[in-house]
Amino acid sequence: MDDRRQEAGVRERREAGVALVVLGVVVLAVVAFTTPWRALPPGTVPAPDPARDFTPLQLARAAAFDAATGPPGYLSYGLGLLFAGLLVLTPFGARLLGRLRGPWWLRVLAGVLLLTAILQAVRWPLGVWYEIRLREWGLSTQDWAAWTGDRLKGLGVSVVLTSIMVLAVVALARRVRRWWIPAAAGAFALTVAASFVYPVVFEPLFNDFRPMPDGPLRTALLAMAERDGVPVDDVLVADASRRTTALNAYVSGFGATRRIVVYDTLLTTPRPEVELVVAHELGHAAHDDVLSGTLVGALGAATGAVLLFALSGLVRRRTGIASMADPRAAGVLLGLVSLAGVLSGPAQNVVSRHVEARADVHALDLTRAPATFVAMQNRLASANLSDLSPDVVEYVLYASHPTAPERIALARAWARLNGVPEP
Ligand SMILES: [Zn+2]
Repeated sequence: MDDRRQEAGVRERREAGVALVVLGVVVLAVVAFTTPWRALPPGTVPAPDPARDFTPLQLARAAAFDAATGPPGYLSYGLGLLFAGLLVLTPFGARLLGRLRGPWWLRVLAGVLLLTAILQAVRWPLGVWYEIRLREWGLSTQDWAAWTGDRLKGLGVSVVLTSIMVLAVVALARRVRRWWIPAAAGAFALTVAASFVYPVVFEPLFNDFRPMPDGPLRTALLAMAERDGVPVDDVLVADASRRTTALNAYVSGFGATRRIVVYDTLLTTPRPEVELVVAHELGHAAHDDVLSGTLVGALGAATGAVLLFALSGLVRRRTGIASMADPRAAGVLLGLVSLAGVLSGPAQNVVSRHVEARADVHALDLTRAPATFVAMQNRLASANLSDLSPDVVEYVLYASHPTAPERIALARAWARLNGVPEP
């Protein structure tokens, strides 16, 4: 390499380094300013007390379910981490993908498929184990054909999205020296686009959605949304009962694709409790939580693209792949994406738990019914066999929501602060 090229390389890496620092600071600043760190004034929320609201039988069932599903869950998590580590830190991926032949784009696609197939083959028995547990505990309503179909569809979606991303990075690296610039822009755009079309493109692959049938419940929910000032045309019902007995509701999409969905399993629940569940979802809609989550995710993806460029020296030494222009880089890319997801998970959970607490406060403000809120939390936790007292590791890795006892403690604090009888 002559001096001029080497100088240019140093300059490009420095530019990427600066961009990385700037983007990193922007992500942290956006998270710091958009996360509702305190749903209620400090010092007002008592410590959660599972024994106060849950019977010894409920506590024992939750603990036993946690123990039954823990091993397959942790093993699958560990395997994912191990596989990603192999791809990023060893020449394993390069050697394997080096056997593929054909034009570069075909080798990239085949590489993504091959590595996904290997990881899934190893993980499959753990998925079966987990599903068997769900059935033993009465949470799953699927047969093996439906379960397999679901899993393959999920894999298909993930392979398509990953292939687009990996193909784009390799294509850019083959054409543009400062490929991190279009890669970062593309990662941002792809994340926003995927989140926007998610409810209309991906969700229908897994569930049928129909407008909630006319009746007192629908009327009450739409009236509540209007009282809340959240424009809602419809509440959709998903046929979740084809898969699970769990009770749930969610908001997805933003702008023109935003929708509030309740599981059909929730429809036999007493109306005031369904109203509280939907009031919580209205909280997400009112605060545009999906949009801000998407923007943070998109900024994170852009930062990841720059980080990838900055890490290419390390990757070269560890994996023997000279640059991301090499089709064998598909392995490194898959590994890095999966590591980024796993490693950022705990931080995402911290933010998510605060966003969820704000939606709970929104629901309480709207309904002023903390006693119903407590009853609803109790019902949801029982039906879903939620972990009522997760250990630190479970809480850090898995808890995207506060626990039911934490949410109940929040409702009690809200009642005290608002002069409503404490449940
Ligand atoms: Zn929520």
